[in-house]
Amino acid sequence: MDLHTLRSDMVRDQLQRRGVKDPAVLAAMEQVPREAFVPERLREMSYQDSPLPIGEGQTISQPFIVARMIERLELTPKDKVLEIGTGSGYGAAILSRIADTVYTVERRASLAEAAREKLDKLGYDNIHVVVGDGSLGWPENAPYDAIVGTAGAPKIPEPLKEQLSVGGRLVLPVGTVPEQQVLIRLRKKAEDRFEQEEMEAVRFVPLVGEAGWR
Ligand code: SAM
Repeated sequence: MDLHTLRSDMVRDQLQRRGVKDPAVLAAMEQVPREAFVPERLREMSYQDSPLPIGEGQTISQPFIVARMIERLELTPKDKVLEIGTGSGYGAAILSRIADTVYTVERRASLAEAAREKLDKLGYDNIHVVVGDGSLGWPENAPYDAIVGTAGAPKIPEPLKEQLSVGGRLVLPVGTVPEQQVLIRLRKKAEDRFEQEEMEAVRFVPLVGEAGWR
């Protein structure tokens, strides 16, 4: 099994064929070894077209969804990004190859710790991982040029809207039941003015927190 070839096949068959076009996103997906972020026993499934379990009832997202959501953020190399839901650390790794700095929040300490270790080992040194309730954002480093949430919220948390810079983009799964959502993109046009777009239907684990599901 040649994981390098499987990764290139994934980029072509799962991403490009489904319309992912942003060259920076495609390059990052080609570069980051997903196998480093999945449990050892599932390594052979690393480039499967699906989410995979990472422990604690959580998942590493399907490669296509990771790429689609990050493409929707319209990142530039100067951007400061906030990710809610570090999980395995894979999404943060992809973001770190495209943007300047990545801040990522995970509510489960064991997942945050494991992700930090992997990211350090791979030498991705522009990523900051913290344990906390990401539904409240990470106010100390705000504002962010882009915010991405990888867990489904009942509505867009107000703290995330506040922590977005004017001109910034937020992409988040939002739904009225905990495990079924629509991807929402918000653009902050002015301090008190947002433009909202609804995108594809998705299924994420719930965002559990003060401004998420209780
Ligand atoms: N981006 C991740 C990856 O690449 O592996 C996928 C993350 S998984 C789909 C969603 C993560 O969100 C889980 O690890 C879960 O513990 C976390 N989560 C749920 N609610 C959260 C909250 N309020 N703050 C931070 N993380 C949260």
